[in-house]
Amino acid sequence: MTMTALGEPCVLLKLGEIVLKGKNREQFEVRLRANIKYALSGFEIDLRQRHGVIALFLPDGTGVEVAEAVAKRVSEVPGIVLVHLAWRVAKDPSVVTKAALELVRETPEVARKASFAVRSRRRDKRFPMTSAELDRHVGSEINDTYGLPVSLKNPELTVSIEVDRDEVFVYVDNRPGQGGLPVGTSGRGLALLSGGIDSPVAAYRMMRRGLRVDFLHFSGIPFTTTESIYKAYALVRRLDAFQGRSRLWVVPFGKAQQSIRTSGSDRLAMIAQRRLMLKTAEEVAHRHKATALITGDSLGQVSSQTMANIAAQDSATDLPILRPLIGLDKMEVIAEARRIGTLAISELPDEDCCTILASRQPELAAKIEDLKLIEKRLDAEELAVQLADSIQAYKLEA
Ligand code: ATP
Ligand code: MG
Repeated sequence: MTMTALGEPCVLLKLGEIVLKGKNREQFEVRLRANIKYALSGFEIDLRQRHGVIALFLPDGTGVEVAEAVAKRVSEVPGIVLVHLAWRVAKDPSVVTKAALELVRETPEVARKASFAVRSRRRDKRFPMTSAELDRHVGSEINDTYGLPVSLKNPELTVSIEVDRDEVFVYVDNRPGQGGLPVGTSGRGLALLSGGIDSPVAAYRMMRRGLRVDFLHFSGIPFTTTESIYKAYALVRRLDAFQGRSRLWVVPFGKAQQSIRTSGSDRLAMIAQRRLMLKTAEEVAHRHKATALITGDSLGQVSSQTMANIAAQDSATDLPILRPLIGLDKMEVIAEARRIGTLAISELPDEDCCTILASRQPELAAKIEDLKLIEKRLDAEELAVQLADSIQAYKLEA
């Protein structure tokens, strides 16, 4: 696109649920603006808050490729519903019309004579034309010039015009944001991150509800390789795009797993291990001010996720365990993992620490009394504190 004669490229952001917040709205918007600035710290941007819209201005003469990169990056920030690469033009109906014509000319829709509609909005009522007049005027110019049919109900191409205080925005670009709430507006959680497909998606889902998420990974070292740690690190790096400043801790878990095996846990080994993970996570959460744990459990997916076994895990900790995938099908989780860019990483081979304790006939309905007995023999509470003492922190380079 080459429209510099008519205006400057910029990026418009539409907020979602935030606009439903009454008195807290300002707090949410402050956080969102901070998150946007952090995500775009590699770019020179001037953020302008307008009513229900955030406009990101770029220095004069900035190329459209830069605006494109900004639009792409900012669409990863939770709390934004729609992102538009727009053109900022003078508040003059003839300039607006020319800009709309140029924009349409460069779309693929023009060659296949796709249907279109013009949608105008005025945030400044002093503009000489009403929204309806602008729609009709620009619409008939596009129709006359390119012969595209108008479809108000179901257009293939939408030309949007927003009349603002100091300028007019014109765009045909509509890309989805992540939706949800700004990270940090719901507090802090600790995600139990395996190398699997589910837990990264679970962490993402909670970020999108405003939680800032830290990550805890249990590795079977010294009895497994370090592959799963690299995977966890790669997953956190990818997920970091949605929140920034992510922290990953790794628990060397192999020896504790060995103790579980020699404790006579037998068919309960897997659940006993899950509970020990949760107790360790609770300890780490307290130290780092997280008030919830997050797992990738989905009801009935594997034997550790039967209703009875999930209940047996809940009683291992006083913290709430958030399980955002509990009601999702595997196919839905896989689709989301693909969309957020974690699937390919999760599919890399690794030596999952869980296989150390996998039994041929795992218990499907663990009883709390049996687990408590095993934990007494293990001194699980003390073990969890020791494990929390032994965590290794991994820094994410910016
Ligand atoms: P995932 O795909 O997330 O590994 P899964 O379907 O394989 O999940 P499980 O292996 O039963 O299911 O694990 C259930 C949840 O327990 C995981 O989603 C994760 O939150 C946690 N978990 C399992 N293994 C680990 C680990 N090695 N480190 C940290 N958390 C783990
Ligand atoms: Mg797993």
